[in-house]
Amino acid sequence: MNSILNLEDKIDELKEKDKDSYNLFKSVFEVSSATGTMEIPHTFKDKVRTYFGNRNAEGNITETADEVIGRIRTQKVVKTYNRWAGIGSLFNSLRASRPGIRPDELQNEKKKVEEYIEKSREGCDFCDPEKYTPEDIFGRIKGKHCITGANIAKYDAWSSMIFFNKHNPLDFNLEELSDYIDTGFKWFKKVNSHDKRFKFPFFLWNCLPKAGASQVHGHAQILMADNIPYAKTAILRKIFRNYMQLKGRNYFKDIYTIHKDLGLALEDVKGFASITPLKEKEFIIISKENPSKEEDIKKAVYEVLRCYIDKLGVNSFNMAISCPESRETMFPYIIYIVDRGSIFKPTADIGTMELYGSSVISDDPYNFINILKDFM
Ligand SMILES: [Zn+2]
Repeated sequence: MNSILNLEDKIDELKEKDKDSYNLFKSVFEVSSATGTMEIPHTFKDKVRTYFGNRNAEGNITETADEVIGRIRTQKVVKTYNRWAGIGSLFNSLRASRPGIRPDELQNEKKKVEEYIEKSREGCDFCDPEKYTPEDIFGRIKGKHCITGANIAKYDAWSSMIFFNKHNPLDFNLEELSDYIDTGFKWFKKVNSHDKRFKFPFFLWNCLPKAGASQVHGHAQILMADNIPYAKTAILRKIFRNYMQLKGRNYFKDIYTIHKDLGLALEDVKGFASITPLKEKEFIIISKENPSKEEDIKKAVYEVLRCYIDKLGVNSFNMAISCPESRETMFPYIIYIVDRGSIFKPTADIGTMELYGSSVISDDPYNFINILKDFM
């Protein structure tokens, strides 16, 4: 079975079978692995079994202490690096091989999340945004399932919100999600026609406080940057230009092709589970056209998010749409979706490694793409 832990074998296979794919991979990515070993003192054995032992459906550990230690004593780490983008991830065999969430745990967690969201309804300002949120100087844009308003603590000069009609951010269908995106793009157009200097749209959704939201109520954010796009989009543009200049090829197309050759991409839309994820289950969709005009792109975003929530019990995530300048045709729209972990886990999923080193990843992108393909 394909696994990120066998990525090097997969690359060797490509070398034999498909030289072009292999060369393309090698021109963008580096992959390597290393094994770390440790000794466990006998006084620590029982605790290690409790911490790392595989459990059955009833939650009982099914391995002896020696079996657990045999499994964890030696740990393989697979390292990926995109030398154009300067981003990389570390996949640890111990983390990646952990069994997924059990169905009973999943149901239990979903129930707790619902209770948490229900509790937050009382006194929610975003349930009545026309009364309790500021509006932009040109007024509000009303969608069928949402309405815009200004961000009371602006990120930038043009920094607004899309308040979903539904309080529960995890409860949305395709029509509602499409409406949120469409309303965002109507707002971008409105801002640009109001002040032509603002031309770089940015759409973001922090779902629940663990992902950076200040309120539980479903809401996305919309921003317009002026002469320079937001820093990470600016870097992507630079990479895109450098790649085009030096190789005469489209960077994003190549990134997608590489992931497709590795069996990590969807076929109908240009979406893939990244081998250099910023954090868990990162999924990237590339769209040549404005996603609000592309039904299949919105559907893919919807399916990734529903798979996260319904199938994998994800409750907090980030989503971003990095956009080209209005009317520009070269640079694509890039949609990022990433899981931010359970809202009930007090530990932050992002630490110093993610901020200043390489991202440390538990989830296997192969595992996620297989689950997603089954789900779709
Ligand atoms: Zn609300």
